[in-house]
Amino acid sequence: MASTETPAAAATNGGQATREEIAVENPATGQVIATVPDMSPDEVKAMVAKARAAQPGWEALGFAGRGRVMRRAQKWLLDNADRVMETIVSETGKTYEDAQLAEVSHGAAAFGFWAKNAEKYLADERVKSSSPLLLGRKLISRYRPLGVIGVIGPWNYPLTNSFGDAIPALMAGNAVVLKPSEITPLTSMLMAEALRECGLPEHVFQVATGRGETGAALIDEVDMIMFTGSTRTGKKVMERAAQTITPVSLELGGKDPMIVLSDADIERAANAAAYYSMQNGGQTCISVERVYVEEGVYDEFVAKVTEKVRALRQGNPSGGPGTVEVGAVTFPPQFDIVDRHVKDAIEKGAKAVTGGQGRRENGMFYEPTVLVDVDHTMAAMTEETFGPTLPIMRVRDAEEAIKLANDSPYGLGASVFSKDAARAEAIARRVESGAVVINDAMLNYSALELPMGGWKASGLGSRHGAGGIRKYCRQQSILVTKLAPKRDVHMFPYKARTSRVLLRLFKFIYGRGKRP
Ligand code: NDP
Repeated sequence: MASTETPAAAATNGGQATREEIAVENPATGQVIATVPDMSPDEVKAMVAKARAAQPGWEALGFAGRGRVMRRAQKWLLDNADRVMETIVSETGKTYEDAQLAEVSHGAAAFGFWAKNAEKYLADERVKSSSPLLLGRKLISRYRPLGVIGVIGPWNYPLTNSFGDAIPALMAGNAVVLKPSEITPLTSMLMAEALRECGLPEHVFQVATGRGETGAALIDEVDMIMFTGSTRTGKKVMERAAQTITPVSLELGGKDPMIVLSDADIERAANAAAYYSMQNGGQTCISVERVYVEEGVYDEFVAKVTEKVRALRQGNPSGGPGTVEVGAVTFPPQFDIVDRHVKDAIEKGAKAVTGGQGRRENGMFYEPTVLVDVDHTMAAMTEETFGPTLPIMRVRDAEEAIKLANDSPYGLGASVFSKDAARAEAIARRVESGAVVINDAMLNYSALELPMGGWKASGLGSRHGAGGIRKYCRQQSILVTKLAPKRDVHMFPYKARTSRVLLRLFKFIYGRGKRP
């Protein structure tokens, strides 16, 4: 099968599977909607070889040539938004609105952003040195594409988190082989078709469909791995990459806290809590996963959040935009994790003020659930749930909230709500996470200029901003000596007098600081 074949073309051959294949299900209906190949290590190797052969031509197009392809792809994405959203909705069970805002619009923004900014971020940099040995030399720091990048992605945002990381990698001049999650490969395949239509040379972007083993094989072949997924798998990826000293960038799990201070706009905080915990069915790495509320406003906050979450409509999103707010649970094992966290919390004394149950017939759905009377003995407060749940905990004051927010192995995102922006910012600076958002949540992801990455077990490296494209490059330093004597003073033969002069010079330059 061609590596960029369309989802439709990838469907079973009249039900006759001719090779190892993976059935792709619609999680909102339980029906199989397509099958894709389960690619072997040999197939991955062949794919990377083709990518390697195609890469120099792509790099030679320069930023302007590559940017033209990306801008065409941006237009393609908007012209084909309905088709893309349908594909995303069908393989994830998420709502149209979630596919539109956090995937199609993000993808369109990303094509434009990287087309415009790649050259600036990767421009040669002239630097000056303070070393007297380098007087008069020209020093340049430059970026070269690494070659072939392997992108391994999760199932929660097939466009944003799987395909999205390919965009800066391509703009840097690399070829990319993308291994999407085995349960959501169709969007990536559609985007491969899009890029081909937009003039991307053959084999510069390919999709390797398959399971974990396909991803593992990819690590062995490529020059760098951009991985998004669970912390558990991230460790395996790093271990495998260590065998070939392949650089990795890891975007892993999170347990994002929200802190609500007593001077917050409680109506806004409650709306944000309901939205940013339940959006995408809570299956977002930077979802609000736990809330700490100062005791003075706790009851009011809980009442408002409960009312808003209870009002959410959940179900099969196939009715189109505006029909449901919360869709299906995309990944079957995730359903069990969500259910385990809710049951564990209730067994230990928590109460579900709304929701608390799931169903697995005709699709997988877990009710939007608000838990109260929670504490840190419960998995719902300490482990990543990744589902439509919101545990809310009462705290004495901001100090206790900060302490509990930081009592986590994760550090991806966080939010603080207060009308006193300066106080909220001071608190934000004490929270141990890669991003902290004030009077909002999650929106930092849309700021493509800002680095997005996790602290602690939430990851290594970041996406977006200058670092989000430089990581796909090798850095090369160039030092040019133009006007120079036949022999520099430090060269052979060594002479005692020259050494003494040099020592005096170094003492003069470096030895003038006062001793404590
Ligand atoms: P997984 O870690 O299970 O899988 C991620 C990808 O890795 C999938 O494509 C998977 O393939 C593949 N894979 C599995 N085993 C291996 C292996 N041994 N070597 C190489 N690749 C492998 O994550 P999920 O798909 O369950 O995604 C959910 C997780 O992703 C959550 O923890 C979430 O927080 C995190 N995430 C983090 C984000 C961030 O930006 N920090 C953003 C979005 C999600 P297959 O699916 O076929 O098994």
